[in-house]
Amino acid sequence: TKPLLGITIGDMLDDTAARFPHHDALIVHYQDIRFTYHQFKAVVDDCAQAFLTLGVQKGDRVGIWSPNRYEWTVTQFATAKIGAILVNINPSYRLHELEYALKQSECSTLVSADTFKTSRFTDMLYALAPELEDCPKGHLNAIKVPQLRTLICLSEDDHPGMWRWDDFLQESSKSTPEALAARQSSLAFDEAINIQYTSGTTGFPKGATLSHHNILNNGYFVAELMNFTEKDRLVIPVPLYHCFGMVMGNLGCVTHGATMVYPSEGFDAASTLAAVEREKATGIFGVPTMFIAELDLPNFDQYDLTSLRTGIMAGSPCPIEVMKKVQSLMHVSEMEIAYGMTETSPVSTQTRVGTPLEKQVSTVGQIHPHLEVKIIDPETGRTVPRGIPGELCTRGYSVMLGYWNNETATRNAIDKARWMHTGDLATMDEEGYVKIVGRIKDMIIRGGENIYPREIEEFLYTHPKISDVQVIGVPDAKYVEAVMAWIRVKEGETLTVEEVQAYCQGQIAHYKIPQYVRFTDGFPMTVTGKIRKVEMREQSIAELG
Ligand code: ATP
Ligand code: MG
Repeated sequence: TKPLLGITIGDMLDDTAARFPHHDALIVHYQDIRFTYHQFKAVVDDCAQAFLTLGVQKGDRVGIWSPNRYEWTVTQFATAKIGAILVNINPSYRLHELEYALKQSECSTLVSADTFKTSRFTDMLYALAPELEDCPKGHLNAIKVPQLRTLICLSEDDHPGMWRWDDFLQESSKSTPEALAARQSSLAFDEAINIQYTSGTTGFPKGATLSHHNILNNGYFVAELMNFTEKDRLVIPVPLYHCFGMVMGNLGCVTHGATMVYPSEGFDAASTLAAVEREKATGIFGVPTMFIAELDLPNFDQYDLTSLRTGIMAGSPCPIEVMKKVQSLMHVSEMEIAYGMTETSPVSTQTRVGTPLEKQVSTVGQIHPHLEVKIIDPETGRTVPRGIPGELCTRGYSVMLGYWNNETATRNAIDKARWMHTGDLATMDEEGYVKIVGRIKDMIIRGGENIYPREIEEFLYTHPKISDVQVIGVPDAKYVEAVMAWIRVKEGETLTVEEVQAYCQGQIAHYKIPQYVRFTDGFPMTVTGKIRKVEMREQSIAELG
């Protein structure tokens, strides 16, 4: 195993740019951007110097509220170079949530998109800070977010009170490369540089505070386990605001001199496959719902995906059937599964080249280098025997510094021995392969029987007419909870409740057979592409009366 990297992210970028100056670093087709590592580093340095001119100090929070664009990534590396703490703000946040995130993290600077889909971000910013119109740039005195001083807008248009990105970059000339080098060399690799909010799948998102050391090493080892080299070209359709994009994607590539390719601002199945074909990509990322959408494209067969070698599916349960299709139909023979959470930088376990085929599709792999995993009985805290489900705990360099400004939540998640309690139920076999059984919060208890929705979902995925399925528990007078399946039927097919139940008869235990089946066109989702079972449950309860 290679040792952990003990450097800052800024120093790592400089190193890669020196080794691979003429390699493609970043390709963003819809923005007409194609940077070599030499060019990419130059823009990052300009951005970092411009932040210095604007007075951004070490430890200051710099928010970024934007869909996937090249400026996102430039900001990511520029803030790391000057030791500012980047705050990832969900591009689907609206006024109220934006205000919460900016206040909670006390951002002094915000880099914002102009528009995304039908939303006008600038309108929301003027609503948040009406003072903006009369403020000189960089001297905002916002009442609602008192720390906020500077707004930078990713727009061609001039918006009063906000810097245009291009004008902002020009400010770099008022600082110097020496000033930047001095700042960069004053930083320590274990200092905080990022606040990432969790997906909010189970409740309100929490801000995980992460250091260079946390995320740099995680991105590095994720790519190592994919056998990444500078020749790899990775299509990243997952949001940059989330660790999947910015750590596993961006840091995975930059640590190896590989190429980052963004197919679209927000996820789009067709653009993703088109980007693979156009850029002859060797790798592709996605959460399961993204791969399902790609495989479902009516003209799927017309894309040339033969350049693909590797990829990662992660973020939520990865159905065996979907994995098999990605490996065969998408030609991703070395497709891997990773498991992790924002709080652990994110990845803890991963399948890898050489993992036996059966384990590649049915487990989340083995623990990462330099990390530890154990599975405990949440009641007693004792390690459970192999094969028995319990709460997954992880420990090592990847565990966050803590939740931002929330000591109580931090103490509840990380125990005195530094184990992170994930809230996920898992089993581990003799060889250390981990299977995620589900979230503790999603487990159904029907008449005293523990039911793991995942198991029923996996079974129903084998039905030829089912495209997507999610199982939840709903209240029941007799059994406390009853099993309900939401099913999306494949295009052009029909299915009845009775057919679904008959398919289960004799195949799975009677108490696991869905008592309720609801056909749907889609599922309530977070922007990271995760199914919000909390919302499914609320909707179902309302409908069942
Ligand atoms: P919140 O903590 O706000 O409720 P979240 O837990 O979904 O949201 P993330 O940190 O983005 O926020 O996701 C981590 C969670 O995603 C894990 O705890 C786990 O439940 C799930 N997960 C991640 N990867 C996998 C995987 N490969 N298989 C199953 N579940 C996964
Ligand atoms: Mg979580």
